[in-house]
Amino acid sequence: MRGLLVGRMQPVHDGHLEVIKRILDDVNEVIIGIGSAQLSHTIKDPFTAGERVMMLTKALTENGIPASKYYIIPIQDVACNSIWVAHVKMLTPPFTTVYSGNSLVHRLFEEDGHPVKVPPLFNREVYSGTEVRRRMLESEDWQSLVPKSVVEVINEIEGISRLHDLSRKEV
Ligand code: ATP
Ligand code: MG
Repeated sequence: MRGLLVGRMQPVHDGHLEVIKRILDDVNEVIIGIGSAQLSHTIKDPFTAGERVMMLTKALTENGIPASKYYIIPIQDVACNSIWVAHVKMLTPPFTTVYSGNSLVHRLFEEDGHPVKVPPLFNREVYSGTEVRRRMLESEDWQSLVPKSVVEVINEIEGISRLHDLSRKEV
């Protein structure tokens, strides 16, 4: 059995890793859709799809999850919610169960006949992309919320200085 998880992963954090491990307790393989793949270089979506693929691949390897267990697929947004599920299915290997706490995602996949499970949230106050980005901008400790390999990728791409530049007002 194959399961699907979709998230923007801006950036990948320990909550994503926890939920992926839980999904792999449930199904043999997980498809991880990198959502809003077309977006980058904004405060809410600072990293490109390619950078997020790199973060996720390295974080899964760091956590001992073999490449045979997952597929990472960037998924651009579409303008119409009614065709989003078909768009996702065009890009992904076949899957049965969808894992999502998002009510729209839940509704759209259920209407298409997929069972949807709501995974528990781990330490959501801190394991959230919004909190990680806030700490990055405030120069607080964001490193403890993400896998070590994600810290390395963000350093390699100079992600913190990118975020600071994006937050600067026009002069
Ligand atoms: P943002 O604050 O930018 O929306 P996020 O932390 O919600 O970031 P997403 O990429 O939007 O991250 O999350 C995708 C999915 O990952 C969520 O719908 C949820 O299923 C799962 N997820 C995110 N954070 C956690 C967490 N702390 N515990 C378990 N699952 C999580
Ligand atoms: Mg979110």
